[in-house]
Amino acid sequence: MNRPAQYLLRFDDLCPTFAADRWRRFVPLIAEFGIKPILAVVPDNRDRELEFSPPSPDFWAEMRALEAAGAMIALHGYRHLNNSEARGWLPLHRKTEFAGVPQEKQREWISSGLKILRGHGLDPRIWVAPRHGFDRNTLLALRQEGIGVLSDGLARVPFTRGGVVWIPQQLWEPVAKSQGLWTICIHSNSARNSQVEQLRVFLGQHAAKFTSVERVLREFKPQRLGIMEDLRAKMVLWRFLASRARKRLRHRI
Ligand SMILES: [Zn+2]
Repeated sequence: MNRPAQYLLRFDDLCPTFAADRWRRFVPLIAEFGIKPILAVVPDNRDRELEFSPPSPDFWAEMRALEAAGAMIALHGYRHLNNSEARGWLPLHRKTEFAGVPQEKQREWISSGLKILRGHGLDPRIWVAPRHGFDRNTLLALRQEGIGVLSDGLARVPFTRGGVVWIPQQLWEPVAKSQGLWTICIHSNSARNSQVEQLRVFLGQHAAKFTSVERVLREFKPQRLGIMEDLRAKMVLWRFLASRARKRLRHRI
């Protein structure tokens, strides 16, 4: 925790039917500032909410080009559906694709997803759970399929849990921090122009502090989370859930 803040940039919900025009606003920033982002790609999207256009014929070639330029491809679930109601490790959503699904099924989906991405010439090496929904069985399935790193959790340093390295993802917009490793998750499909601008300004000031998954794995030596940092992460989650519950209640009144 004593080193100065570093950042990772992550783009979620990338698939051939994504909002290509909205995505294009971010591509020049990746190149201009030399960012090596995490690209969370849905292998076989069936989520209608991610159908913004007919499938882009250039999508997979574009992902390959970005990967060749240094981006890290993440397996973002399998079909991005909400088929399960169980609560996972990070209960931020009521329904998810993976949490609570039998282990064998989870492994089958992860294996199929990896095969699809590899079939398009990509090399997915980390896991990003749709809607933060995953459980112990997901981690077991990931290990069985040779994926040992995920992007999620609310601690301020990478750590190990369930035999997998967790690189935390705590921000949904750029926020300047003094210490720790912070992953900023951007949903390009829904981002407003003001958010693109906000990211551009932040990158202009902090580009040198942006790192890559490979560097993080090299520089940090992830271990089990200490009691205090674990407790702090739980408090952050609790505060987040409490503030959301309050907002819901207010809307109902
Ligand atoms: Zn998603």
